[in-house]
Amino acid sequence: SAPVYTRALAFADRIALVDQHGQHTYRDLYSHSLRLSRELCRLLERADGDLQEERVSFLCSNDVSYVVAQWASWMSGGIAVPLYRKHPQAELEYFIRDSRSAVVLASQEYLELLSPVVRKLGVPLLPLPPTVYGTAPEEPGAWRVPERNWRDRGAMIIYTSGTTGRPKGVLSTHRNIKAMVTGLVHKWAWSKDDVILHVLPLHHVHGVVNKLLCPLWVGATCVMLPEFSAQLVWEKLLGGESPRISVFMAVPTIYAKLTDYYDRHFTQPHAQAFVRAVCEQRIRLMVSGSAALPLPVLERWQGITGHTLLERYGMTETGMALSNPLTATRVPGSVGTPLPAVEVRIVSENPKEGCRYVLHAEGNERETQVTPGFKEKEGELLVRGPSVFREYWDRPEETRRAFTQDGWFKTGDTAVFKDGTYWIRGRTSVDIIKSGGYKVSALEVERLLLAHPSITDVAVIGVPDMTWGQRVTAVVTLQEGHSPSHRELKEWARGVLAPYAVPSEFLLVEEIPRNQMGKINKRDLVRQFYPGDQG
Ligand code: ATP
Ligand code: MG
Repeated sequence: SAPVYTRALAFADRIALVDQHGQHTYRDLYSHSLRLSRELCRLLERADGDLQEERVSFLCSNDVSYVVAQWASWMSGGIAVPLYRKHPQAELEYFIRDSRSAVVLASQEYLELLSPVVRKLGVPLLPLPPTVYGTAPEEPGAWRVPERNWRDRGAMIIYTSGTTGRPKGVLSTHRNIKAMVTGLVHKWAWSKDDVILHVLPLHHVHGVVNKLLCPLWVGATCVMLPEFSAQLVWEKLLGGESPRISVFMAVPTIYAKLTDYYDRHFTQPHAQAFVRAVCEQRIRLMVSGSAALPLPVLERWQGITGHTLLERYGMTETGMALSNPLTATRVPGSVGTPLPAVEVRIVSENPKEGCRYVLHAEGNERETQVTPGFKEKEGELLVRGPSVFREYWDRPEETRRAFTQDGWFKTGDTAVFKDGTYWIRGRTSVDIIKSGGYKVSALEVERLLLAHPSITDVAVIGVPDMTWGQRVTAVVTLQEGHSPSHRELKEWARGVLAPYAVPSEFLLVEEIPRNQMGKINKRDLVRQFYPGDQG
């Protein structure tokens, strides 16, 4: 399992990346990285050119410098730890300290932000040379990446989103990353002719693996924006200049923002026809993930672009695990079936019933095996396969607890298998609300409430309750100019939800707080509305 960057050598003069500085060939990326890896080894006094899994944190803009920092960490045998420029200093400090990084790399623009942090921690800060932006000079002398046993060597620590607690460092090996990449390349039929528009942060699997390492694995081109802007995305998707975008991926909130922009700016029928025609002709794949995709967003996007968004499910610890099909019909609201080489199970929690599970091996290529007696049961989703991470960094106890005795990773998400596809019901700890003996899926209630004509966004939370254990509560934003009464909302909800799932309260807010990846921290939300009521 050689690191994924080794593929770059085969694509030499093809354009790997287009960013704010211009175009960069695969050869450029490779030679710039090689130079930086030599500098890293010099700085850390590794004459043999091997950092031996030492951690290299880096804070870069979304451009070529990011790829160079990542590849240089790998070439020098280190573990890449990507940081995010919008994290406050205290968070950056946490990641650098927690990963016990030996060095921090940074683009010029972040040196000031990082200086006090590295000074406090006593870690060297290596500024990335601005020359990284130009064409790379000839191969730097005799410096080469030494042969190593890469297979189980740590490659990357990505911190989880921290939706259910303090972010945990997830250590993936080179073999894990290769498995994540090749599974997606196969399932979504990536080819060297693809051009992806990259608009996501580069410190989560979605932005790092799905949108960057996949195209680079096949010799395709990644067009990278410094950050998301609805206007720029539409310009790039519709623009006439080459390379023209053929693949797009984002989180649900980004699709909602793009739809919003469209509603305000593409009001003329001819403009709308143009958008649709261009999207249908040029773009072959549009993907959504990282959080549940609301049905109204999917439907609106379908109306605007003619594309049924492909929803998939994954997490930092496993990479992508489940995906709707590329060519066959996609089932809205479901997340499809396992990717190649990924095995999943659903384990029912009820010890009285024993472990009933569905086993689904090797992506679509084998039949789903359903244990006799299994019927549309919900339970914890387990994942096994070569993409599953090696360990939570520095947390041996949590690593141990995260796996079953026979090596399945416990995702902490509740899922259902029905109609030949998997459905995510939410995080067992926060989205599965236990009310009066019933288990209510917050995601399911959110999905149904979004069908109300006045509700534009919603987060359903479980609030501690003396009588019911927890009670279902909906935090909602409303369409401008609409003001349904509390009673009306409740009446309406009774028509679409089981009695025990009808929210006991509707709390109106201006905006539902979501992070960059479109995730809602529901623990914070409960704390915000019921400060003294933590159960
Ligand atoms: P933490 O583990 O720190 O609490 P997190 O689980 O949000 O945070 P990530 O690994 O970034 O951190 O996110 C993975 C989670 O995102 C999954 O476990 C799942 O709950 C959610 N998720 C991903 N894709 C989907 C999807 N298509 N539908 C619903 N939920 C999804
Ligand atoms: Mg998690």
